[in-house]
Amino acid sequence: MTANPAGSTSNLDGELARRLSGLVMGPEHPDFDEARRIYNGLMDQTPALIARPADEQDVSEVVRFATEHELELAVRCTGHHIQGFATCDGGIVLDLQDLNQIVVDGQRGTVRIGGGCVMGDVNDTTLAQGVITNGGTYDSVGVGGLFLGGGVNYLVRKYGYACDNILGARLVTADGSVIEVDADSEPELLWALRGAGHGFGVVTEIEARAHPAPPEILAGWLLYDIESAPEVLRFMRDYVVDLPDELFMDLWIFTIESEVYHLPAELDGKLALGITIVYLGDAEQGEREVAVLRERFPVIGDSLAATRYGDLRVRGNDTGGWNRRGLVNFWKSEYLPGLPDEVIDGILETAQGLNPGSDFYLLPIQGRMTEQPDGGAAYGGRTPGWMIQIEGIWPDHEDPGRDRIAWMQGEHERVIAPHGLGCGYQNATMYETPERMRNLFGEEAVARLNALKQRLDPDHVFHRNMQDLIWDSGGGAS
Ligand SMILES: Cc1cc2nc3c(=O)[nH]c(=O)nc-3n(C[C@H](O)[C@H](O)[C@H](O)COP(=O)(O)OP(=O)(O)OC[C@H]3O[C@@H](n4cnc5c(N)ncnc54)[C@H](O)[C@@H]3O)c2cc1C
Repeated sequence: MTANPAGSTSNLDGELARRLSGLVMGPEHPDFDEARRIYNGLMDQTPALIARPADEQDVSEVVRFATEHELELAVRCTGHHIQGFATCDGGIVLDLQDLNQIVVDGQRGTVRIGGGCVMGDVNDTTLAQGVITNGGTYDSVGVGGLFLGGGVNYLVRKYGYACDNILGARLVTADGSVIEVDADSEPELLWALRGAGHGFGVVTEIEARAHPAPPEILAGWLLYDIESAPEVLRFMRDYVVDLPDELFMDLWIFTIESEVYHLPAELDGKLALGITIVYLGDAEQGEREVAVLRERFPVIGDSLAATRYGDLRVRGNDTGGWNRRGLVNFWKSEYLPGLPDEVIDGILETAQGLNPGSDFYLLPIQGRMTEQPDGGAAYGGRTPGWMIQIEGIWPDHEDPGRDRIAWMQGEHERVIAPHGLGCGYQNATMYETPERMRNLFGEEAVARLNALKQRLDPDHVFHRNMQDLIWDSGGGAS
């Protein structure tokens, strides 16, 4: 669809406001400039309108309004996707933040989550009722992107990606009508929402599995100096394969800020390797499981301790440090079937050139992540092995660091991609190609997804998302 030029939209905010109970902001609104901004400071776009629906009926109105006026539509949960789909130039941002209800059904073992919720609120509500859900590890990241596009938190090895845990949903489609999705009424759409779910409509509610919260867990990190990293990484590639599914681990190569990690000041500015460890069970048992990691290599930092799941907010929100909103971000992700020496040595060499704040993130793909859930899920990323991301973050909004982006993209292509599966984690990557996105889902899934797109959104109203790269009938407008 074609977008109206921004100049011709000046009276539209009043017209839309009369049709909604929720908030509508045009460029004259005092909060508009703040509200138009998203997480990645690289993506600096200005929509004509920002609409904050108060309920599902409002969502339908906004979608109808956008199509009536041929305005581009950007659906936003929190705007964390670094490709910047949650905004646009001259169109409408449909901001779901007021659809934030969370209802736990203890008997069914499920939780119904509004399409605009953030993980911190989901965790608070579920934990208060003795259960936990999949999703993401950061409080401020939204469930819309997480659940519909994958979703990795400490439960992923035991219960699969967040998308694997979707049991049902409510969806506003391109003509503004509402579909209730579950395994009986819409099995094919349920399958699609599990990991390829951003391109069929606005999901106003997700029903997800809730899991019992363990009374106690072992959690924290171990840090190693960069000289030990080659050996630790070589050890980890075999060690992670046979771990119990209760034991989550991820790794990152980063620059130490001694205050953040409560380490001696002389370590400030040094590169290091970190391992996050979360054992979802008895802490003493967890200690025994990971003892080898302390015994075999000298650690320079150790925060592992018995704790409660609710206290795991180690990575917090996006108001401080390198995760604060508005910094320039360039991320590139790759799935790999293994972790060969060339990749270990290559990323350690590349890491020497990373600025403080940037890092490499490594996630073992093991346990339930490698299995399809009951009823199946459209999402790929099931091959046992590793997910590796280069996560470039730097502060200068004025200079978006194009050279740095080109360098990081080049390092991804030189060091990681030749050993990869030709695709990455769609929630944490950018500047992808149709070929790589098709690789992620696989040709059979792509064909099924295309048939659904043709049924539900043949005019590509919902095109500001990663799946827009896989449509036979065009797309790629994002
Ligand atoms: C600081 C930070 C921490 C992160 N931590 C994690 C993590 O721990 N685990 C993890 O797996 N990922 C993590 N991510 C990546 C995260 O999964 C993606 O950024 C994800 O897209 C965020 O979802 P969102 O809804 O908040 O983002 P948005 O940018 O608002 O949305 C992302 C995409 O989803 C669509 N969308 C959003 N909501 C809906 C909806 N209700 N209906 C239909 N479409 C919708 C949007 O249109 C857009 O295409 C992190 C990212 C950042 C920046």
